[in-house]
Amino acid sequence: MSRVFNFSAGPAMLPQAVLEKAQAEMLDWEGTGMSVMEMSHRGKEYMSIAEKAMADLREVMAIPDTHEILFLQGGASSQFAMIPMNLLRGKKSADYINTGAWSKKAIAEAKRYCEVNIAASSEDNNFSSAPAQSELKLNPDAAYVHYTPNETIGGVEFDYIPETSGVPLVADMSSTILSRPIDVSRFAMIYAGAQKNIGPAGLTVVIIRKDLMGETLPGTPSMFDYQIHADNGSMYNTPPTYSWYLAGLVFDWIKQQGGLAAMAEVNRRKSDKLYAAIDGSDFYANPVAVNNRSWMNVPFTLKDAELDKVFLEQAAKKGLVTLKGHRSVGGMRASIYNAMPEAGVDALVAFMAEFEKEHG
Ligand SMILES: *Cc1c(COP(=O)(O)O)cnc(C)c1O
Repeated sequence: MSRVFNFSAGPAMLPQAVLEKAQAEMLDWEGTGMSVMEMSHRGKEYMSIAEKAMADLREVMAIPDTHEILFLQGGASSQFAMIPMNLLRGKKSADYINTGAWSKKAIAEAKRYCEVNIAASSEDNNFSSAPAQSELKLNPDAAYVHYTPNETIGGVEFDYIPETSGVPLVADMSSTILSRPIDVSRFAMIYAGAQKNIGPAGLTVVIIRKDLMGETLPGTPSMFDYQIHADNGSMYNTPPTYSWYLAGLVFDWIKQQGGLAAMAEVNRRKSDKLYAAIDGSDFYANPVAVNNRSWMNVPFTLKDAELDKVFLEQAAKKGLVTLKGHRSVGGMRASIYNAMPEAGVDALVAFMAEFEKEHG
């Protein structure tokens, strides 16, 4: 068997230990004679799996009792609509910070439900930085402030949590959740599609302050109402049971690695190595302001775009795959989430030096 280093932005690599455990339990979970996939979501075996996964996420992220955890479906993209439906709570407008492709999608969807005030935008500098706190034009009457702490496509990350003077702060953490410790109490809501840093696609994690639920826009479907999901333990309907189970294995793995502090240490080291390789050469470039460079998604270009194809081909021969940049920006992108071993980054850095020697 040979596994590659997969730099995909999502669905992305999972820890090998997690896949091996799932494999070992595939046909017979703990003597039940059935796969987790085949279990009733309301049976006691599956309930024990589900409850442990939620409890482990609460422990790993130190989520306070003021916040509910919901395991939903529909991806982060459904949240773009569910947020205004649930959080406008009688208000007419919301603040959005625009830092790239995912912010824009969230904004476009919110405009279907409310007035959107763009509190700040880095579009003028081609989304190569995140606005500073002093640049945010926040409306004190906004229902909430939405931002994208890590833009997965542009590789742009906030190096601070916006201060919103009591207005609920909502964060799309799809590509940065679990990458380091965060103070959950600063957020009214955090959400993330699972397929980047949590587990397989199909599960969407929502962490929301309990006092903000229960006041939806008229006509909101039950499936889009956070309170209904909370009242039903995220089992109002059949949840994505297998993705939930695998996410649980990932939370367990994170605990075994030493938790989010340990994740942060490795993630910082991995991204430092890769940016050092890019900055140390005239052949590679990354356009993002140094203090806003993402730990998780590292886009870079080659000096000559004509070489992109050869770069990708030769990298793949070394087992370094899915390095092609997003179609909207071109070049390369290395996504290096928790499950990317440091050895994968070392191998990429070594290959980049070799390639430059040959083609630079
Ligand atoms: C991937 C991603 C999304 C979209 O997630 P889906 O689960 O495919 O809807 C939204 N926001 C960010 C920041 C992402 O990285």
